Amino acid sequence: MRLIPPSPIPLRLSSLLLGLVLALPAAADPFDVVIANGRVMDPETGLDAPRNVGIAQGRIARISTGPLTGKRVIDAKGLVVAPGFIDLHQHAQDAASSRLKAFDGVTTALEMEIGVPDVSAFLVRKQGTSLINYGTTASHPAARAFAYGTPLKEPNLVAQSGPATNEPATAEQRALIDARLGSELDAGALGIGMGIQYTPGATRQEVIETFRLAAARNVPVYTHVRSFGRIEPGSSIGSVAEVIGAAAVTGASLHVVHINSSCLKDGLECIALVAGARARGLDITTEAYPYIAGMTAINSALFNPGWREKLGVDYDALMLPDSGERLTKERFDTLHASPESRLVILFVNSQEMVDRVIAEPLVMIASDGEDGHPRNAGTYSRILARYVRERGSLTLMDALRKMSLMPAQRLERSTPAARRLGRLQEGADADVIVFDADKVGDRATFQKPREASVGMKYVLVGGTLVIDDGKPVEGVFPGRAIRR
Ligand SMILES: [Zn+2]
Repeated sequence: MRLIPPSPIPLRLSSLLLGLVLALPAAADPFDVVIANGRVMDPETGLDAPRNVGIAQGRIARISTGPLTGKRVIDAKGLVVAPGFIDLHQHAQDAASSRLKAFDGVTTALEMEIGVPDVSAFLVRKQGTSLINYGTTASHPAARAFAYGTPLKEPNLVAQSGPATNEPATAEQRALIDARLGSELDAGALGIGMGIQYTPGATRQEVIETFRLAAARNVPVYTHVRSFGRIEPGSSIGSVAEVIGAAAVTGASLHVVHINSSCLKDGLECIALVAGARARGLDITTEAYPYIAGMTAINSALFNPGWREKLGVDYDALMLPDSGERLTKERFDTLHASPESRLVILFVNSQEMVDRVIAEPLVMIASDGEDGHPRNAGTYSRILARYVRERGSLTLMDALRKMSLMPAQRLERSTPAARRLGRLQEGADADVIVFDADKVGDRATFQKPREASVGMKYVLVGGTLVIDDGKPVEGVFPGRAIRR
């Protein structure tokens, strides 16, 4: 089943060559929606000027200095009009989280780090029920669980630490893993998601063969790398080097997720590894989120013995969301051994390092959003408030580029539909945000992680308003599948 009809608009080669990939739809006057008098910003063309934007049939149909007439006219004077943000790393795919994402300016939220356990079931569940655009990778941890006869079910994305995570796969199991990944790609997955730290039994050989499969299918690998910290073997640098090596020898494209929390004190060195590989022609990208704490399943293999030594922390670096309970050894042991998958927050990074990583030009922003962590609600507005407005370490255009164009370009490896994402250009999908750059900001905290961000006045997904004058629109589900 195809969820996105093929584009009726042919791409023009000349435009492609210019990087302006978006051909003009037929004129439509009056437009369905006109966003008038805003400061229109597009990180690809560098446009940053007052313009009127006409939207028709779900696309940006006209960007004009002259007046446009619309069935609905939004006065955006004093507001920024920008492409909606694309979150490559969003785990929570429930309705409440989608609403929080929309208030944070996110119009596309994809589960790419690890992928959902069943791509077809996910795409069917989301079709016609999603506020914002969605999509997923094929999950290597889930394929592994499947091969071990213990399949995962949403919302569990990784298995409890056990044979399916900790043992090397046999040749028969490896064949099952590859077959499962292949059928998940056939079902519309946008790449292969690997959480190597959650499947430490996966050998280097298994990692390389999974990259080979991705290369053969011409899709990227998105990965949470094997380990973190400075103890060798298994350091952050060694772990990033492993996947860069796998990309180099197989030709697969690679996206290293949350380089902030995978590399910690060595964040800048890990970014230098990615930059060095890119300089030698490899297609490798990375992302970060703007918080000092991570969050993950406490019964996962990430907490196999040795985690405290690797991180240089003790049990009290772990906190349960909502209650704020700090863990002791006894409490940790109970929760780690439980088959119930509970999320725990890990305070393991420094604000100074996070600030430096976020400002790095090749780092895109992705939230790693999960319910119970403020990053689910606040990541994108926090970039605009803290890094653009307060610290001035990013220009507004650079921040928009990290949150819209760069993730769209990463997705172009998987689907040509991504050429219409992340741009404020004629012909682009009308995923558009209109916000007050002086007021936009995050409100979610570790104590109150579900507080919606403020400052997004209008948010459109495929030309449909999902936030109108700062208020949520009820009963609309314009989210589209982004799929191969
Ligand atoms: Zn992760």
